[in-house]
Amino acid sequence: LSVDDYVDKTFDRINKLESKVNAFITLRNKEEVKNEVKENIKNKRNGKLAGILIAIKDVISTKGIRTTCASKMLSDYVPPFDATVIEKLKEEGAVIIGKTNMDEFAMGSTTETSYFGPTRNPWDLERTPGGSSGGSGAALAAGYVDLALGSDTGGSIRAPAAFTATFGLKPSYGTVSRYGLIAYANSLEQIGPMARNAEDLGLLYSIIAGEDKRDATTINYQINGEPSEISLKGIKIGILDDIIEMSDKNVSSVVRTAIDKISSEGAIIENSKIGYTEYALPAYYIIAMSEASSNLARYDGVRYGFSKYDQGNWIDTFSKNRDEGFGLEVKKRIMLGSFILSAGYYDQYYVRALKVRRLIKNSLDQLFSKYDILISPTMPILPPKLGEVVNDPMKMYAMDVNTVIANLAAIPAISIPAGFYNNLPVGIQIMGRYLSDTMLIGISITLE
Ligand code: GLN
Repeated sequence: LSVDDYVDKTFDRINKLESKVNAFITLRNKEEVKNEVKENIKNKRNGKLAGILIAIKDVISTKGIRTTCASKMLSDYVPPFDATVIEKLKEEGAVIIGKTNMDEFAMGSTTETSYFGPTRNPWDLERTPGGSSGGSGAALAAGYVDLALGSDTGGSIRAPAAFTATFGLKPSYGTVSRYGLIAYANSLEQIGPMARNAEDLGLLYSIIAGEDKRDATTINYQINGEPSEISLKGIKIGILDDIIEMSDKNVSSVVRTAIDKISSEGAIIENSKIGYTEYALPAYYIIAMSEASSNLARYDGVRYGFSKYDQGNWIDTFSKNRDEGFGLEVKKRIMLGSFILSAGYYDQYYVRALKVRRLIKNSLDQLFSKYDILISPTMPILPPKLGEVVNDPMKMYAMDVNTVIANLAAIPAISIPAGFYNNLPVGIQIMGRYLSDTMLIGISITLE
C-alpha cells in the first residue's frame, strides 16, 4: 500500500460514513495529513508508528489543532502545546488524523451530551457507541483507523470498547501522564489506548506509559517491550457474580459463554463477589462531581474559551458566559459538586464517599490475594438507542456500575469483545492488580 493509497482510502471511508457516524469533531485536511505521513516515514524511520494514523479524543491537548472537549465553552480553543502522550506519539512517528467526539467535558456514557451532536454506533446507527470516548470507539469500529486515544474517569474508554466490539484499557492510575488532559476528575482519570485488536492496544500503551515530570502523580514505571501472549493455564480467575447479577440477561448470557471458553483454556475459575457494589456508583459520582466543580471553575469567559458577555461586573460576566458556554449535564454536575463540597454537607457526602472508596479498595486487595484477575461484563446493558438514557440521569449513571470500581481503586481494567447478542456487541471486563496492565493485555491477546 502506497502512502497515497493509505491516506486516500482512509479519507474515502470517512467521507462515505461520517455523515452518519459523526465520530470526529475536527478532521484534518487530507493533503496536510498525507504530507505528514510522508515526512514521518522518511524522518521517523525507526519510530514504532512511523506514518500511522491515529484518532485522538478531543479532551487531549494538541498543539495547533482545535481541542474543544465537545463544549461550546472551548469550541474555538487551539492549544499552544501538546499533551505528553501526544509528544510521545509524535516521537514514534504517529500522525493525528483528527479529534474525536465525546460527551461534553467527558461527562456522560453515550457521547450524546456533546455540543457537536451525538456519535452513532457503526454496528447499529440508531444506537449509541457508548461514551464518553464514543468518537474514538466509533472511529475504530467504522474502520477509519486502527488506533485511538480515549480517557477514562469512570468507564469512558471501556464503555465505547464494549459497545463497538473493540479493545480499550483504563490503565493503572499514575502510569500515563495526564499533562495536557483537560481535567474532569483528577483522582480518578487516566488517558488510555483504544484499538481494533489487543496487540495494537499493547503497542500503544507501551508508547504512552511512563513517568512525566509535568504530572507529579505519574510513577516511575517502565514497560519492557510490547506485551505478548500469556498462557491462561493456572491463572486464577474470580468471576464477579454480584456484578453479573446486576446485568441484563442478554448481556450475562454472552459473558457466561465467554467465561466457559476461558475455563477451557486451563484457567482456574471460581465464583466470587466484590461487595459494596451498591455504594460504588454513588461514591463515584460524589467524588467525580466534587472534583469537576472545582476543575470547571476556571472557565469564566475571561481567561479561556467562550467569551461573549462583558456585563460591567464580574459576577454577571462570569455567570452569563458560563450559562451559555456549558451544556445541561455539565451545569448539573457543577451545581451538585459545589453543593457536596459546601460547609455542612462535606462530611455527609464527600467524606463518606471517600470511606466507601477505601472499603472497595480493601475488598479488591483481598480478592487479589486470591485471584490474578477478576471478570465481569463491562456494561450491564446492550448499547441503548439514542435518546433512551441521556434524558434519564439515573438510568445513564447506572450504566457505569461495573466500570467505576477500577477508577475508585486505581487498578487497571480492560474491555475486550465477548460476543454479540442480536448483532449488538457485548464486552467483557478484566480487572487486575495495580500495575498488572501488561498482563491484562497479554491475556487479551491470548483470548482474541
Ligand atoms: N459516565 C461517567 C461519568 O459521566 C464516566 C465518564 C468518564 O469516564 N469520563 O462520569
